[in-house]
Amino acid sequence: MTVRMQACAASDAVREDTHLTIRQSGQREVFCGLTGIVWLHRKIQDAFFLVVGSRTCAHLIQSAAGVMIFAEPRFATAIMEEKDLAGLTDANIELDRIVTQLIERRPDIRLLFLVGSCPSEVIKLDLSRAALRLSQKFSPDVRILNYSGSGIETTFTQGEDACLASLVPVIPPTVASECSLLIVGSLADVVEDQFVRLFESLGIGPVQFLPPRKSTALPSVGPNTRFLLAQPFLADTARALEERGAQRLVAPFPLGVEGTTRWLAAAARAWGVDEALFEKVTQPYRARAQRALTSYKHELAGRRIFLFPDSQLEIPLARFLSRELAMELIEVGTPYLHRAHLAEELEMLPAGTTLSEGQDVDLQLDRCRAARPDLVVCGLGLANPLEAEGITTKWSIELIFTPIQGYDQAADLAELFARPLVRRARLVA
Ligand code: SF4
Repeated sequence: MTVRMQACAASDAVREDTHLTIRQSGQREVFCGLTGIVWLHRKIQDAFFLVVGSRTCAHLIQSAAGVMIFAEPRFATAIMEEKDLAGLTDANIELDRIVTQLIERRPDIRLLFLVGSCPSEVIKLDLSRAALRLSQKFSPDVRILNYSGSGIETTFTQGEDACLASLVPVIPPTVASECSLLIVGSLADVVEDQFVRLFESLGIGPVQFLPPRKSTALPSVGPNTRFLLAQPFLADTARALEERGAQRLVAPFPLGVEGTTRWLAAAARAWGVDEALFEKVTQPYRARAQRALTSYKHELAGRRIFLFPDSQLEIPLARFLSRELAMELIEVGTPYLHRAHLAEELEMLPAGTTLSEGQDVDLQLDRCRAARPDLVVCGLGLANPLEAEGITTKWSIELIFTPIQGYDQAADLAELFARPLVRRARLVA
């Protein structure tokens, strides 16, 4: 659900590097980390996500992911009743019963995530102990892990970070002495396949992905692993990989032609790829993607955009929109500003860009209304009221559900921003 959270109101604005950063904490409008199940259950094809939560959690997952009649979904909610919340029953006994029943009914499950929620956190149900206990019972056929998707103090993409971080301890160590490349963050299969072809042409590899498509094909990790983040919201996962000895390759994120080129170049440098080969392999892709962007640049250049903090993709998106589509950035919000992971992105933003970290939603709405942007990127909870006020919006969650990384998706990404403007123009015509 969209959660409007109350935190202590606090606000400051500081000039850091060349950008002005507004830091605020107050009410926030975000989806919770359970939302990640929507794309993660499609990505890891033999995993099941069992939310230990309330009817509200069940409702969120069912409406966000859609439930097909006759299909057996790979997510469900073990609903905690009032007597569980009041501590009148042993929730662990009930959980063991549900998990046993589920695994007996679904022999296709190889990996089961117990996903914590606000209610399970409030009653301090220890899902890590439950995962350990149940793993002992069902191992080696089914591996059972846990993470939290709770909406308390988190934003929706952190669900993926928590899920992937929970996988890192069970990833096997590397055995070969050669370097391998690990791409971290879920990407659409079609995007992964494109990157695999590019890395092959560049002579970079072996290449592995986290999350994998099958839990039985986990990547390996060790000091000879170099990893590239494909998503900017994976702070805990990156830290866990570094603790296993893997080294992060410093790069911007693969959004747009420039971001994709620099992301690939970071791996090419680590593998000592010849510059001429890099140019030969990437040039046709770059040329085609730049051609495809041309018509969208015509539509978007000079348009003023305001990004509310939501998906944590905002800063890489702002860089793409300003540098490749000539959009004007009014304010770029992000729930958290990970300065190390975003260093290259921040350098590429126009000097003087106003960033905001955290949110006091009412103050931010005031700034947005005063600026009268051409386009606002925000969560679902803000989009409808803003549309009713005549402000054109783009749902930030769509940017997570749509394949947007890589050369072949650059124009699709631009189109996501052009479409609402075209629709608005038709409505007023
Ligand atoms: S985890 Fe919390 S925020 Fe998310 S749906 Fe459940 S109760 Fe709501």
